[in-house]
Amino acid sequence: MVTNEQLAELLFPEIHETVEDLEKRYPPRALPEGAQVTRFAPSPTGFLHTGSLFTSMISCMSAKKTKGVYFFRLEDTDTKRTVEGSAQDLIDQLAYFGIEADEGYNPKGDIGAYGPYKQSERADIYKTVIKDLIIKGRAYPDFCTPEDLDAIRKQQEAIKALPGYYGEYARDRNLSNEERVARIQAGTPWVIRFYSNGNHDRKIKFTDVIRGEIELQENDTDVVILKSDGLPTYHFAHVVDDHFMRTTMITRGEEWIPSTPIHLDMFRALGWKPPKYAHIPAILKLDNGNKRKLSKRKDPEAAVSYFLEQGYPAQSLLVYLMSIANSNFEEWTIANKCFDLDRFPFSIKKVANEGALFDQEKMNYFSREVITAMPLDIEFQQVCAYASAHDAKLHGKIEENPEYVKTILNIGKQDKNPRKDYAKYADIFPLVRYFFDDEFEDILAAGLPFNPKLGKDIVKAFLVDAKEEMPFDTDESAWFNVIKEIGSKHGFARANKEYKENPDAFLGSVSDCAELLRVAIVGTNQSPNLHQIMAILGKDRTLARLQRVIDSL
Ligand code: GLU
Repeated sequence: MVTNEQLAELLFPEIHETVEDLEKRYPPRALPEGAQVTRFAPSPTGFLHTGSLFTSMISCMSAKKTKGVYFFRLEDTDTKRTVEGSAQDLIDQLAYFGIEADEGYNPKGDIGAYGPYKQSERADIYKTVIKDLIIKGRAYPDFCTPEDLDAIRKQQEAIKALPGYYGEYARDRNLSNEERVARIQAGTPWVIRFYSNGNHDRKIKFTDVIRGEIELQENDTDVVILKSDGLPTYHFAHVVDDHFMRTTMITRGEEWIPSTPIHLDMFRALGWKPPKYAHIPAILKLDNGNKRKLSKRKDPEAAVSYFLEQGYPAQSLLVYLMSIANSNFEEWTIANKCFDLDRFPFSIKKVANEGALFDQEKMNYFSREVITAMPLDIEFQQVCAYASAHDAKLHGKIEENPEYVKTILNIGKQDKNPRKDYAKYADIFPLVRYFFDDEFEDILAAGLPFNPKLGKDIVKAFLVDAKEEMPFDTDESAWFNVIKEIGSKHGFARANKEYKENPDAFLGSVSDCAELLRVAIVGTNQSPNLHQIMAILGKDRTLARLQRVIDSL
C-alpha cells in the first residue's frame, strides 16, 4: 500500500519545507486597519496594454489612499510568451507614469520581505504547497498525453457534454497510488492536477468590490496546477502568491471573473481566507457598431507605448484613465482647478462595472488642459525628452537654440485664458515650424494661403506699405492702429462693423488686413497673436520675410 505521503515524496523529493514554514516566513502584515495590499502582476510579454496601465493605476491608488502596500509581481511562468528584457521595460514604463511599487520584482534585486516576486523563482514554494495538497488527497499526478486529452474532448463533443477535465472525464483522478508510482517509475511524463470537490450544479457567490455580489457555478474541474516544466499555471500561482504575499485586494482584468470559482475552490481546499476581488472593466472600442475590447492587434491605442511615441505627457493618460475610473473626477478637476491625482479622493467602489469606450477626443481634451497647466520648465523638459526620442526635427531646433524653443512654448501660457494648442508633443513642430527660417522657406515654396478674393496686386501693395510703415517698438494697440490706417488707404474698412454695414464699399475689413500680414509673416492663417510672434522673430527677420513674400508675388 502506497500512502499519499510516499507519493508526494516520490514526486517532490527535493522539497523539505512545509506550508507551516511558509506561513512563518511570510507572516501577516502589520498594517493599519483598512490598509489594502494590492499588486500589479503582468507577464513580461514586451507590451504594456493601456488596460493594464488602467489596472495598475487603480491598484496603486487603492494602496496609496489606504496607506497600504502596492507591489509588483512578475508572472513569467508562460515561458513561451516571455520576451527577454521586457520586465525592465515594464518597470520603466510604469515608473514613467509614476506608478512605482513599494515592493516587488526588480532585475537589479527584489525589494521587500515577501519575495521572490518573480514566479519562475518561486518553484519551490509552489511545490511545497502541492506536496501538501497531495498528502491531503487534493492534488494528483495526471499522465494524460495531448492525444488522450483530445480523445476526451471529442467524446464530450459527441454527446454535447461540457468540455474539461472533471468528474468521470478526469481519467486519472482515481488511479491508485500504486498505479501512480508505477507510472512515475516507468518515466511516464506527468502534470499535477487539483482534485476538485466542487459540483457544477451548485452555485458559488462572492462579493466583488466593484460589481457587488456575483453568483457563478461552482468549479468542478481538476485544473492543472503544475505543468510538465515544473512551473505552476496562473490559477495556482495566483492563489499561492496572493496568500503568501498577503494581498488583501486583487485588482485584475474582468476576463478573470469566470475563473474565480476555480480560485475560490483552491482557497477552500487550502483552508486559506481568499482576498477581496475587484475585477476591473476593460477599455472598449466601437467597431462597426459593436463594442469590443481594445485589441493589441487592431488598435494602436491599446499599447501604452503609442501614447509615449505621440508625446502625450504621462499625466495626460493617467488623468484620462482616472476620468474613466471615477466619473466624478472631471467635475473635481474643474472645481479644484487641479489634475493632481494624489489629491483626488479616488474610490475603487465608484469604478463603473461597465467598460468605458476609449474616447480620443476626451483624451485630447484632458491632455490640452494638462499641458497648458504645466509649468513652462517642466513642459520644456518633457518636450526635450520626447523630441530627442521621437521627433528629429524638433530635437534639431532645440539643439540649435533651446531658449528660442522655450520662448515659443511660452506663447500665451501666462494669459488669463491661455491657448490650448497642443494635445501632445507631436503637435508642436507642425504648429510652430514657421518660427524657423528654413521651414518658412518651405512653406513659402508650397504657396501661401492668401485670401483668394483679394487680387495679387492688392496683397502686394498692402504688404509693401505695411513693411515700410509698421512700427516695431510700440504696444499692440498702437501697432494695430497703424495697420488700420494702412488698410484704409488700400480700401479696407477700419472696423468690422463698418465693413458689415456697407460691404460693397470696401475690399474687406481690418481683420482681412491682419490676415494678410499673418499669412505673409507666418505662412498660415491660424496662429497665436501676431504681435507676439513678430516680437519673437524680431524686426529684421520679420521685414526680411515680408520682402521675400513681396518678391514672390
Ligand atoms: N498575469 C496575469 C495577467 O496578466 C495577472 C492577472 C492578475 O492580476 O491576477 O492577466
